[in-house]
Amino acid sequence: MSVKVTDVKCFITAPGVCDLLVVKVETNQPGLYGLGCATFTQRGFAVKTAVDEYLRPMMIGRDVAYIEDAWQQMMGSSYWRNGPVLNNAISGVDEALWDIKGKMAGMPVYELLGGKCREGVQIMPHGGGGRTLEEMGDNIEKLLAQGLDWMRVGIPCECPDEIKPKGAPVAYYLNPDQARENYVTVFKYLRERFGYRPNFGIDIHERFTPTEAIRLCKDLEPYKPAFLEDLLAPEDAAWFDNVRAATSIPMAMGELFVNPLEYRDLVAGRKIDYMRAHISMLGGFTPAKKLAAFCEVYSVKTAWHGPHDITPVGMAAQLHLDLASPNCALQEFGDVSDLVREIFPGAPWREGGYAYVNDKPGWGVDFNEELAAKYPAKGYVMTGSMGFLARRPDGTAVRS
Ligand code: MG
Repeated sequence: MSVKVTDVKCFITAPGVCDLLVVKVETNQPGLYGLGCATFTQRGFAVKTAVDEYLRPMMIGRDVAYIEDAWQQMMGSSYWRNGPVLNNAISGVDEALWDIKGKMAGMPVYELLGGKCREGVQIMPHGGGGRTLEEMGDNIEKLLAQGLDWMRVGIPCECPDEIKPKGAPVAYYLNPDQARENYVTVFKYLRERFGYRPNFGIDIHERFTPTEAIRLCKDLEPYKPAFLEDLLAPEDAAWFDNVRAATSIPMAMGELFVNPLEYRDLVAGRKIDYMRAHISMLGGFTPAKKLAAFCEVYSVKTAWHGPHDITPVGMAAQLHLDLASPNCALQEFGDVSDLVREIFPGAPWREGGYAYVNDKPGWGVDFNEELAAKYPAKGYVMTGSMGFLARRPDGTAVRS
């Protein structure tokens, strides 16, 4: 007897700073359901509408076995495709179907991919913070003492009030020259204090023009960053040819990718070293496993995006893929609160420099709907790190 989808539900919960989206696919088998991550925290209600109004009616009555066909149906049936709202909606259903597949097989999903290549996944946390270089160094020293030797270092690059025009609106003001100076100052300090062994990288957040980006690489080259992340915007990807010619600093790229056209040439041309896409933004586990394999062919490693705007279900999906991908180098990973762990029993965890998943069937993560409902969605947030509104010193709006 085939197992059929009986319902598809989308939940938004905000137990921390982010709206988190979970999709639950229910079946006609008692107790058999799957969970997927559909977290597009900045536009969560749009994703929920796409799930509730379009994917739910499309999926009810379908056989859960046909994951690839379901993905093609969900992606292709809107005709216009590959946007972050629909990709996340599709991801929620797609990951839930993989969870069901694992539960039906009685295996963790990594077993369905061929089994583990490693027992734990090396993680890349965020390091730094602090009001002075010494404070930042002290914070990093604590992380190094825990066995973490890959980290992204947070470096302040906001410009001082004096150079803003009168009446400048509240925003994140970025002065590229000041930012470049700060990056170099911090890296010089870190290398003098910790030597060249720890792998320190930086997320540039596409804050520079292509030419400024190359100047930054030249200034940082002596301090051997482990990688620069999102040095350029996806729209400037063709400029990576010039970046490669100008520097040997490894390039990490991709958290904004939503369309294969954005990464195909970068990977095939070996213009980047680390693929940093966010799996739900690609459309779920089905396209992500294809991208991991595509990267492997070209010796590009994976380092999937995953700070806090991802559910433990989504993090589990990324880690299952990491465990089974020979070309996985790193996983961005943020420790979750006890509350989040209570809402998502079975959430992945870290010990020292590695992240782990349990060995239960599927993703091994559950969802406490009643507890999640006590932390309703926050919706649109204008300021702070969730608003991402940035301006040049003269007030011109820029992406960041
Ligand atoms: Mg990033």
